[in-house]
Amino acid sequence: MRNPPDPLSTPVLSWNTRQDADVVVVGAGIAGLVFALRLPPSLNVIVVTKGALGESNTRYAQGGLAAAVGPDDDPDLHFADTIAAGAGLCDVAAVRTLVDEGVAAVQWLEAHGTTFDEVGDRHVRALGREAAHSRSRVLHAGGDATGAEIERSLVRQLRIRPSVSLLEHTAAIDLVTDGGDSCRGVIVQTDGSPSRTLLAAPVTVLANGGAGQLWAVSSNPPGATGDGIAMALRASVVVADLEFTQFHPTVLAADGIEPFLVSEAVRGEGAYLRSVSGERFMTAIHPMAELAPRDVVARA
Ligand SMILES: Cc1cc2nc3c(=O)[nH]c(=O)nc-3n(C[C@H](O)[C@H](O)[C@H](O)COP(=O)(O)OP(=O)(O)OC[C@H]3O[C@@H](n4cnc5c(N)ncnc54)[C@H](O)[C@@H]3O)c2cc1C
Repeated sequence: MRNPPDPLSTPVLSWNTRQDADVVVVGAGIAGLVFALRLPPSLNVIVVTKGALGESNTRYAQGGLAAAVGPDDDPDLHFADTIAAGAGLCDVAAVRTLVDEGVAAVQWLEAHGTTFDEVGDRHVRALGREAAHSRSRVLHAGGDATGAEIERSLVRQLRIRPSVSLLEHTAAIDLVTDGGDSCRGVIVQTDGSPSRTLLAAPVTVLANGGAGQLWAVSSNPPGATGDGIAMALRASVVVADLEFTQFHPTVLAADGIEPFLVSEAVRGEGAYLRSVSGERFMTAIHPMAELAPRDVVARA
């Protein structure tokens, strides 16, 4: 007798209706929204998100976004800091792209309506200092509501883009391939609907975010369940670097409250970490003390 199929490893490959597009983007955090908005308006694009548009990890990002925009900074310094913090594990080409294109990415966000905090009244960006950075290079918005401001501006842009159709409260379930290396689209299901739809497109982008909800305590929203990774694995897509999960050093998890992250900007502004006995312990562990790389502080 054959074992019943394992729902975790067996893809759902049936659908009731079909909709065609040039590009399907799964996920409406910063990755999915920026990808969709950077496509030529001549393309017919569908963006699918399993919650309300705007609900994402992006919305909860706090302290800010690092880019070498300051007058005392340059991408090579940002590169050196990132490589040092990566403890020999960085993908050097990816770091190079990140630091070289970071400044232009900030300008693109500003051109699309993101307002970062400024100092004074001369339109000088306010830059915070965070762990492992040798310069103040963290742009922020609304104090520690950076992600909410970025998500707000991108959502606004998406809603006025006529070439983009939006499917909210709609979960991507599985990829459909040609049996080989080509993806033909993705099967989706809207909340409360009994039927599934194939969104067929020559290009399907998975921008589902992470899998923080796999842990018992997490600062991530409920939707961070690693669906994109699971779909990719079920479709035999090669995935990489799954061993890397960030454990943020300062999250307040106490009985009776939702755990919430205490932004690193607090330490950037001079806060110390102390043990239950009041001892400041990071000075004995790393020369940068409270501003050591996050993994070092988390392990301490
Ligand atoms: C509390 C907190 C604070 C943070 N602070 C910072 C910070 O200061 N600086 C920083 O750089 N980073 C910060 N981060 C990390 C940052 O928010 C994320 O790295 C980033 O937002 C990830 O963007 P994303 O677009 O890849 O994913 P997300 O923003 O998570 O977007 C994923 C999208 O996919 C959708 N989705 C998921 N599964 C499905 C499915 N099956 N079908 C359809 N849609 C699906 C979700 O609904 C969502 O719209 C923070 C994160 C948290 C949680």
